[in-house]
Amino acid sequence: MKIAVFSAQPYDRQFLDAANAAEGHELHYFDAALGPESVGLAAGYQAVCIFVNDVANAGVLEALKAGGTGLVALRCTGFNNVDLAAAARIGIKVVRVVSYSPNSVAEHAVALLLAVNRKVHRAYNRTRDSNFALDGLMGFDLHGKTAAVVGTGKIGRVFARIMVGFGCNVIGYDPFPSEEFEALGARYVGAGEIGANADIISLHCPLSPENHHIVNAERLARLKRGALLVNTSRGGLVDTEAAIEALKSGQLGGLALDVYEQEGGLFFRDLSSTIVTDDVLQRLVAFPNVIVTGHQAFFTREAIGTISETTLRSASEFEKKAPLSNEIKA
Ligand code: NAD
Repeated sequence: MKIAVFSAQPYDRQFLDAANAAEGHELHYFDAALGPESVGLAAGYQAVCIFVNDVANAGVLEALKAGGTGLVALRCTGFNNVDLAAAARIGIKVVRVVSYSPNSVAEHAVALLLAVNRKVHRAYNRTRDSNFALDGLMGFDLHGKTAAVVGTGKIGRVFARIMVGFGCNVIGYDPFPSEEFEALGARYVGAGEIGANADIISLHCPLSPENHHIVNAERLARLKRGALLVNTSRGGLVDTEAAIEALKSGQLGGLALDVYEQEGGLFFRDLSSTIVTDDVLQRLVAFPNVIVTGHQAFFTREAIGTISETTLRSASEFEKKAPLSNEIKA
């Protein structure tokens, strides 16, 4: 089957080509992100394979259908960038990778937490300049602190397990509580309580219309002063401008982001020789107590291997008209 792979990076080509040895599809790679301007590239392809910042809204889906595409295969977990209701109406199937390596994302959240708390990003730069002074690098012990997990699904539970290992008091909020989370020795609290006593808050819930700006000025004001916020989930969960105000006032003690609400058009590209015009992001990265990575939490060998295999297996199921193991519906 002919598959148009959008937003293709060198590592996508490497891992998808390797996985395709078992599936035998005809893969064509496009650097461009899928969107209204690029959707014409997909004409004649039975499937498109997309990633987190590709756009599959109603207009794009209509155009895909008109060009003969019947499957949108997300090579990621989140699906906030696909209009599922429109896909159902138009008759396009949508699949995703339900689970590849929750460890990859949870471990990166921990890496960001440790870096922002112990100022590893600042120490790295200092020692390269033979500055071995410690002033400004003080952090706090994680042991004995309260870590709040918002969203105790697959990734949130791995993060919680690691935090329990550090000796943290782990609390969580999820509208669908999991026994596995409580079995770790963690406990659930109400939505209103989650930030009040936490020294660390890590977001692991999906972005949905209800969860947009779940961390806003009002919620930030209710956090324990000086708390650290980690977001490896989706940028739209955090009102970035409100977070900047909270950082300026000291209400937020540190911010570690792998995702950013305006990351489309910025992340996954080398813009080091250009002028980045996003003033909000530029303000963020100028704070000494902020660390930003460019949506790399998923980026481990294990995760990319599983993502590639699962995506192409889903494409094969579609081609054989077999039930789609990883289908998502509105
Ligand atoms: P999951 O479906 O296993 O868990 C998500 C949990 O969030 C569910 O238990 C759900 O009930 C809960 N939830 C929904 N709304 C909530 C709310 N308002 N408050 C608290 N909890 C809420 O998903 P997962 O595999 O753990 O992935 C979580 C998210 O991580 C994905 O949606 C995706 O956005 C993000 N992600 C990021 C990367 C990355 O590279 N940065 C990679 C993979 C996934």
